[in-house]
Amino acid sequence: MSKLDARKLSHTMCFSCAQIFPKKREDPIGCPSCGFAIHAETYHRIITYAICAVYYGHDYRRAYDKQMAEHGEITTRYALPDPATVLCFCGAAALSNIIGGIAYDLVKKAIRAVVNRARSIDQDIGQSRVFLNTAEEIDSFIQCVREYCADHGAIDRAVLLEIEREEIVCEITELIPKTSSPTKDEILEAVRKAIGNVKERKHPSGDDFNSFWEELPNH
Ligand SMILES: [Zn+2]
Repeated sequence: MSKLDARKLSHTMCFSCAQIFPKKREDPIGCPSCGFAIHAETYHRIITYAICAVYYGHDYRRAYDKQMAEHGEITTRYALPDPATVLCFCGAAALSNIIGGIAYDLVKKAIRAVVNRARSIDQDIGQSRVFLNTAEEIDSFIQCVREYCADHGAIDRAVLLEIEREEIVCEITELIPKTSSPTKDEILEAVRKAIGNVKERKHPSGDDFNSFWEELPNH
């Protein structure tokens, strides 16, 4: 299982009321608060894609944009920690607008609800590292996710090359056999597969976002 896989997260989020609860192994996945149910496969497809969008399209993007702004070129490569779970949930909400076509204002409300829900649970799912408090911060976050998913042209070319390189390297690391020292052929095969996997990353479709955010809290 890839390190960027929804099944590795400790918690699950409801796509209707934004409640966050400990991961359940059931299909469909039902929300203990509002009863909203979603097929496990659909849930995992959306969250796994959101994890990639947040990790590469937001976390790496921000880090390399900053380096470009400060030095005008990228000379240092980063190995960033896994993205904050709560930010991945917010990323999934952003996708419900970008891919699912759900109204922007409702999606912003959903993101605020996710951040509030995360603050009310005891376990650390990255809530202390997430800064999505103002409307501008939320707009800028959604924009990052949109540019990763649908508008690569808006990303600085040098930054985009680093992001793509990072995605392929991460994939290669997963594919190279870990038991013995890999042969040249095994490495070449891993590189070929990795490029294919990144290019054909499974996107959610618009239909996956049906009936989202109907039970959001009012405050
Ligand atoms: Zn719910």
